[in-house]
Amino acid sequence: MRTASTPTHCPYCALQCGMALSPLPTGGVEVVERPDFPVNRGALCGKGRTAPAVLSSAVRLTSPLVRSGGELVPATWEEALDRIASELGRIRDEHGPDALGVFGGGGLTNEKAYTLGKFARVVLGTSQIDYNGRFCMSSAAAAGVRAFGLDRGLPFPLEDVPRTGCVILVGSNLAETMPPSLRFFSELRDNGGTLIVIDPRRTRTAEQADLHLAPRPGTDLALALGLLHLVVAEGRVDEEYVRERTAGWEEARAAAMAHWPEYVERITGVSVPHLREAVRLFCEPEAAMVLTARGPEQQSKGTDTVGAWINLCLATGRAGRPLSGYGCLTGQGNGQGGREHGQKADQLPGYRKLDDPAARAHVAEVWGVDPDSLPGPGRSAYELLDALGTDIRALLLMGSNPVVSAPHAAHVEDRIRSLDFLAVCDVVLSETAALADVVLPVTQWAEETGTTTSLEGRVLLRRRAIDAPDGVRSDLEVLHELATRLGVEKGFPVEPEEVFEELRRASAGGIADYSGITYRRLAEENGVFWPCPARDDGPAPGTPRLFLDRFATPDGRARFAPVAHRPNAEEPDDDYPVLLTTGRVVAQYQSGAQTRRVEELNAAAPGPFVELHPRLAARLGAAEGDRLAVVSRRGRAVAPARITTGIRPDTVFMPFHWPGEGRANTLTNPALDPISRMPEFKSCAVRVELA
Ligand code: SF4
Repeated sequence: MRTASTPTHCPYCALQCGMALSPLPTGGVEVVERPDFPVNRGALCGKGRTAPAVLSSAVRLTSPLVRSGGELVPATWEEALDRIASELGRIRDEHGPDALGVFGGGGLTNEKAYTLGKFARVVLGTSQIDYNGRFCMSSAAAAGVRAFGLDRGLPFPLEDVPRTGCVILVGSNLAETMPPSLRFFSELRDNGGTLIVIDPRRTRTAEQADLHLAPRPGTDLALALGLLHLVVAEGRVDEEYVRERTAGWEEARAAAMAHWPEYVERITGVSVPHLREAVRLFCEPEAAMVLTARGPEQQSKGTDTVGAWINLCLATGRAGRPLSGYGCLTGQGNGQGGREHGQKADQLPGYRKLDDPAARAHVAEVWGVDPDSLPGPGRSAYELLDALGTDIRALLLMGSNPVVSAPHAAHVEDRIRSLDFLAVCDVVLSETAALADVVLPVTQWAEETGTTTSLEGRVLLRRRAIDAPDGVRSDLEVLHELATRLGVEKGFPVEPEEVFEELRRASAGGIADYSGITYRRLAEENGVFWPCPARDDGPAPGTPRLFLDRFATPDGRARFAPVAHRPNAEEPDDDYPVLLTTGRVVAQYQSGAQTRRVEELNAAAPGPFVELHPRLAARLGAAEGDRLAVVSRRGRAVAPARITTGIRPDTVFMPFHWPGEGRANTLTNPALDPISRMPEFKSCAVRVELA
């Protein structure tokens, strides 16, 4: 038995809190504080504290399951792997490689995400791979690349937050999603700085703000334009900075000037005095930041919405300067690393582009294949799910539960049911795994070693602390075994460090260059920030702060985005007069596949609810706890009423962690952003009635 505690990181969100796992005499591990990790200094939310419960959960899968006679029944690993390989091979022979789909997750380690992308392109030869991170932050990534030439969630460490002058937090409820991060914002206020929160709901985060603006869902693009209008009108543009470090200002300025404050007030519901106050708070200090999360990003205009907030930063000289900048608060545990190393439809490792001949040549050489054998870009996540059962006949799914987490979930569930073959790797029988033809039980975070990249761009080492139960294998072993069965005997190691060494070479010279990072360094240091190119003269320092000298564009200048307000893909009408917005609660995580198996978390958050304003409740004749039906053009969800003045009267809110009749994603709209292909989770038109 292991005796010493093992330093590692939480399996859940992108804050990647440091923790240590200490063995228990009765078997298993308990979480102990790890104050040496600077991001959380030992603090954890309930999800992190209780994470070991999933390791020993009674519903943990410990045997492969194979569908036989309509039922999933236990099988040997050989039987299960043979069945997957033979079905994938058969369908590829009959329908071609693009009939095979691969769907990954933002919780997979860098090593798994890298190997999954390589497996899809080298072994299966399919272009049809994407991952659920597309649902999480792709609009911010697209806007970041457009403006700065590079997407790294935060271009500075969180420790800079308390020392800036003002933070505008747009569509982020950190009090529920990343509670330990709140201390940075309390310290900001203790130091005399101000916090502005923009959210249609008066969340626990908004309650801590100096100024809370509550726009209608989907109008924060107009809000940002209105603020920029006032910046110009009040003479607060940093002309020298705009001249020296940016391009495209005149077009962006003209767009902003078309958005008069009174017009913006009509669109957003935020009063002109509040707009003026926000501009004053943001512009008066020497330094300031804008941080966005899912609110502005999960829109059919998410890239432009984030672009509008970046424009505000650029016009006021608040990007690429000390203690100033724009950042995205990435959500999933490895949402950042997961989008850098090849499980995204258009990407190769190192944040290289699949349609770039030089990138293809570099990665093909590392992989020992002909560049021409690599398929081109594939479909985005929702488009891939939408094509299941038609163009795509078989799916290999790892680390995701789209039956709960995808938009228009009933349709996605139908598509999954119509597949010829579905294989799922998971730790429990998730709602999606329950539909599979083969389910493989895989190791969890504490049972395996691997790296993740936090929302700060800090590459971290998660260490194995406990042996996996008998009958369970790692995702890397699964991919190795499948590759072998499909005729590729080399290139799919099962040791994470061996994979990481290859990833270092594949990423070398790319945007997300990890070549100077080693497991040894990660074990000795509290993470290393990318880009970190290898150096001959000693360890590379890594890059905690980006853009201080130049942006990552060809000419070193940041680009303004020429954006204008446009409505939601679905606006309220007589049949669907209310807007639905969705989000998370503190005690559950994403589709709930893990956290719904933890007693303490279930006790704190046992099920879905519909949050609504007393005025709307009165119109419906609804009282607290009444069962409400929320109906959109895509379906109907039922959950109890939770009445609060902390939400706009024209909006209802549902958390999305649960399946069944309260599944919020039954309602959500899969309208996609034209650039990022991110669905509009954050607003759709609904009607609400007593169930
Ligand atoms: Fe884990 Fe995120 Fe909670 Fe930290 S905030 S303990 S990383 S879930």
